[in-house]
Amino acid sequence: MPDNIYPLILDIIFPRYCLSCGVILWREEFVYLCDNCAQKIKLNDSPARCAFCHADSKNGLTCRVCSRKYDLDALLVAAYYENPLVQKMIKLVKYQFAYTIADDIAKLMDKYLLKIKIKGGLDKNFLLVPVPLDKKRRAWRGFNQSEIICDFLSKQIPCNYAKNILAKKSGLTPQVHVAERNSRLANVVGAFGCLDTELVKNKNILLVDDVATTCATLNDCARALKSAGARYVAGFAFARN
Ligand SMILES: [Zn+2]
Ligand SMILES: [Zn+2]
Repeated sequence: MPDNIYPLILDIIFPRYCLSCGVILWREEFVYLCDNCAQKIKLNDSPARCAFCHADSKNGLTCRVCSRKYDLDALLVAAYYENPLVQKMIKLVKYQFAYTIADDIAKLMDKYLLKIKIKGGLDKNFLLVPVPLDKKRRAWRGFNQSEIICDFLSKQIPCNYAKNILAKKSGLTPQVHVAERNSRLANVVGAFGCLDTELVKNKNILLVDDVATTCATLNDCARALKSAGARYVAGFAFARN
């Protein structure tokens, strides 16, 4: 029996529809997007802003002023949050548990790395690390979308992958419930720890999350990784709101 017969049968029993235009999907590249709608999702041309003060900054590097205060060295953002389809994908994966959409998100993030021409440079000196959820949230949701994104990316780029290297301390208020920007930044200080300092020592890290907001979470993870010996930590998000 050919390998591809099973998904084909699944598609007959449980047809998939494009999230955007509603057309029935059949052997498309994406799980929840038709090829036509997927092509219309504009990817960022170049990362050109400091993650923290939004000043112009080459390659998304944290500017000189902000790098005195923050540990995240750069931020790459694949797609535009203003795009309603991008928002729909993020909401579905986060709040409706449609975890397979994370594969489509990862596919778009991979295309972005190719577009900005850095995919070839992500070699064995780089370590792919997903932003973790705390244990309770992970158990409640059943998956960590950042991990699913990393699972996919790790098959596309030749860098190393460290899935469980960061741990989030439980019991903190989920970011979405803390409305004000400054209290959000305060909420996560010291919330993460690195579990394997040998693995991150002198490594360049690509720290992956689905959405970046204030970058407080990414920065706190970067702090944990840097204090464990990491050389450079770049955040990589699907979109930033
Ligand atoms: Zn479509
Ligand atoms: Zn700055």
